[in-house]
Amino acid sequence: MLPGEQRLPKAILIPDGTAVNRLFAYLCQQADKKVLHDHAYMLQEIQLQWFSMLRSALQCPRCGGNKLIRKGWRERRLKSSRGTISLVVLQARCKACGRTFRPLNEIIGLPFTMRFTDELVQKSVKLGLQLSFRKSAVIIKKLTNETISAEGLRRKIARLAESLCLPNMVAGQTVLVDSTKVKAGKKQRGASVHLAITAEKGPKQMGRSSIKKNHFTCTLAVSIVFTTR
Ligand SMILES: [Zn+2]
Repeated sequence: MLPGEQRLPKAILIPDGTAVNRLFAYLCQQADKKVLHDHAYMLQEIQLQWFSMLRSALQCPRCGGNKLIRKGWRERRLKSSRGTISLVVLQARCKACGRTFRPLNEIIGLPFTMRFTDELVQKSVKLGLQLSFRKSAVIIKKLTNETISAEGLRRKIARLAESLCLPNMVAGQTVLVDSTKVKAGKKQRGASVHLAITAEKGPKQMGRSSIKKNHFTCTLAVSIVFTTR
């Protein structure tokens, strides 16, 4: 806190316990539970129908064989903003080589390692790009029904950054610009300071990709330009 700054009264920060708030919290919780329960059954039915219709067209990922039988169900749990969603996925087994696999995974885009829905990842990443990972993790925990660790968020952002591919026309050019007003000059609102950063691929450091950060341009009131390298 800044010197002289006062904390907000607790009454503002803590939601009141009126009956309508408690009622709606309960109804939301129950509605989620019911929808999940109903859809779990429906999704199993759809998978069974789908499997019996397409069985001959499906192929074993190991040997390419197409003689497949059902081999029970596997539970998958995904974290979303509304909480952890459980989904059972149909398993199939190849009669020729015995390989067990989940043909639905590929069709609906559910990789074996997926633990979070993309919407929760996107929300977390948006926060993580503006706040510290630790603070972002705290906010996600407060505003959604799910948690993501600060380290988990850092890894997700790093993975996304790795996959970014800057087109040649952008690489080496100014890619981020921000500006603000400062108390300077004769104008009442002050003078503008523009900040531009150029992203350029740096050398590998300890096997990790790096970005050259020493390209910095600052323009004050348009007329004075500082550039450092
Ligand atoms: Zn096979």
